[in-house]
Amino acid sequence: MTEPILTIVVPCYNEEDVLPETIRQLRILREQLVAEQLISTQSTLLFVDDGSHDATWTIIYKASLHYPDVKGVKLSRNAGHQQALLAGLFAAKTRSDCIVSIDADLQDDISIIREFVKKFREGYEIVYGVRNRRDTDTFFKRHTAQWFYKTMKAMGVQLVYNHADYRLMSRRAVEELERFEEVNLFLRGIVPLLGFRSTAVFYDRKERFAGKTKYPLKKMIAFALDGITSFSITPIRFISFIGFLSFFSSILFGGYFLFLKLTGHTQTGWTSLITSIWLLGGLQLISFGLIGEYIGKIYKETKRRPRYIIDLDLFNLPKALPFLPE
Ligand code: UDP
Ligand code: MG
Repeated sequence: MTEPILTIVVPCYNEEDVLPETIRQLRILREQLVAEQLISTQSTLLFVDDGSHDATWTIIYKASLHYPDVKGVKLSRNAGHQQALLAGLFAAKTRSDCIVSIDADLQDDISIIREFVKKFREGYEIVYGVRNRRDTDTFFKRHTAQWFYKTMKAMGVQLVYNHADYRLMSRRAVEELERFEEVNLFLRGIVPLLGFRSTAVFYDRKERFAGKTKYPLKKMIAFALDGITSFSITPIRFISFIGFLSFFSSILFGGYFLFLKLTGHTQTGWTSLITSIWLLGGLQLISFGLIGEYIGKIYKETKRRPRYIIDLDLFNLPKALPFLPE
């Protein structure tokens, strides 16, 4: 077997603080893997600028001028982590045998990419990076993440536990991924559905090297809600279940109160009345909200809008264009 061409895809959003170090470390690693004859000399690093407002693109572009193994794709505006990652995967697949995706912040131990490639060479098409511990995440993040995995599992979504978007995929797997055309693509849920031969490699997650997390609580909730409603209709079933429950119990209670009235024990019940109105009103509103969530999703999907728009693709150009700004 000749050495496979590896592309390492890195989505970047306002990562000027960490990016020079990320580029440096990944280049060293690439150099080592080439020297160990694990990957082809044509292997590259592909940085996707997800519409950053800081110097991120300038750093990527300048690096691409200096180093032939550094490439960049610039999205026209911020499309979000998942979409930026997809843009990178699809751009990379044209000239790669396998593709590793990793965050820009150096939280994931890059040295296990060596393990990823070895597994790929053993015939695995998907290799998941799985965190051993989450000591370095905040108490809050750790617990919300735990809760997220549990909820997803309870709702029947298969996820690889403690796996974020750090993984290797074969070119074939990425090509199949392209056939999942939903606009709201939740990669962690979709990749296991590809079903190719897969395995996991374990590692310890570190602190963010520099910069701040781009996933504040608001985005985390949106991400979790998106993940759940994209994959599972259990919440809607739950609504019908509650509906039936309250319907039958109201019949039972009604019968009971009627019985009391007929036997002369009249219930002067304002409390029970108001409680049940509020209870049912609340349930109805929650239900509407939930159904709205799904309808909103359908609405978004039917529009078939592009998931991201590429401004510049230095990966699939033979050379950088001469008229690009410094
Ligand atoms: N990211 C992105 N677009 C966004 C938000 C984040 O490309 O809109 C990138 C970010 O630069 C990083 C990765 O996605 O490389 C993961 O983000 P972050 O490290 O902030 O998330 P966390 O590790 O805190 O969950
Ligand atoms: Mg991070």
